Amino acid sequence: MFRYRQRVVTAIILGFLFVCAGCADKSVRVQEFSRENIVMDTLIKITVYAADPQLGEKALNEAFAEFSRINSLADRFSEKSLPDSETSDVYQINQNAQVKPVKVSDDILAMLDRSNYFANLSEGAFDVTIGPIMDLWGFKQTEHHLPSEKEIAEKLALVGYQRIVVDKEQKTVFLPEKGMELDLGGIAKGYATDMAVQRLRELGINSAIINAGGNVYALGSKPDGSPWRVGIQDPRNNNKIIAILRVENTAVVSSGDYERYFIIDGVRYHHIIDPSTGESARQLMSTTVLASSATDADVMSTTLFVLGSERGRELLQKFTNINAVFVDPERNITFSKSLNKQIDILDQANGQVKKEDSEDASSQVE
Ligand code: ADP
Ligand code: MG
Repeated sequence: MFRYRQRVVTAIILGFLFVCAGCADKSVRVQEFSRENIVMDTLIKITVYAADPQLGEKALNEAFAEFSRINSLADRFSEKSLPDSETSDVYQINQNAQVKPVKVSDDILAMLDRSNYFANLSEGAFDVTIGPIMDLWGFKQTEHHLPSEKEIAEKLALVGYQRIVVDKEQKTVFLPEKGMELDLGGIAKGYATDMAVQRLRELGINSAIINAGGNVYALGSKPDGSPWRVGIQDPRNNNKIIAILRVENTAVVSSGDYERYFIIDGVRYHHIIDPSTGESARQLMSTTVLASSATDADVMSTTLFVLGSERGRELLQKFTNINAVFVDPERNITFSKSLNKQIDILDQANGQVKKEDSEDASSQVE
């Protein structure tokens, strides 16, 4: 089975319907404005709260416009999906590999900068030059392919974020070898989410929730002042939530082996690749990352998924404000100690629950 592109959302927002702003002043009623759209091959749902209906609609329009804008810059298959046959920056960079540097937008430079920052920190576990490997496995088409070791080795020779030539002055990007391909699939949704949130804030929206296929951002609190509740899905049952996080002004981003995958002879091949092997990363079933930046949370969810919980924890220690929840192949749930007060484990999914950094790491949480 190959679940592709239009994925179910991974994080389920435990919503409520509405509404009265703090309820102190009954005359200022806040209304809910909600819309769903498929952008970036992902079902994106945005809900904003506003007293003025015109503002509510404008906020939705502008937030979605940010997703479309970033998609039109970062979509590496843009020749097919853009109606006016304009091609994206990323498409042009890839087309011009070994040919010439390509002038790009500030957004692409910002995404590359952040990608390379985390690539360095993770010793290449996050690598946006993973494109040729994604194509080899058939993750861009609906046709999957089980490649030979030789094929993987050939394509891996084209992977290496250190080889991307960025000229910040000239605002150009150059890939030095034909066949190299940028793939911003591990960052673009998070970056677009941050851009949409920024727009909402500029418009004066202080309560909203965005769910971009598992990339959630909870802006402010719920209109009644309580925190947003974001669920983490069971990696093997998309109708089941295994934990709930209570958050405000926080991105909650999940990566998992259940988003795009196919199974051959009982082995699951999925879309998060370990660049050191060219194969699907095998150490975890899912990661969920909390951070104030959706860009960082998106990159880190993919990075930690590749690193696994042990090396992932070492990387997390470099940050005071990024936290994570891991679900390992035995379905054990491990989470950053600082999440203690904001996480409820609903179902241990047959595994154990472990608090990272606790004195007895294997101790069960009640
Ligand atoms: P999703 O897109 O399902 O939300 P992720 O945020 O984890 O999941 O991103 C996975 C996507 O990132 C893949 O579809 C691919 O485009 C890209 N990718 C896969 N492996 C890596 C990697 N090791 N480093 C950077 N990007 C990756
Ligand atoms: Mg990601």
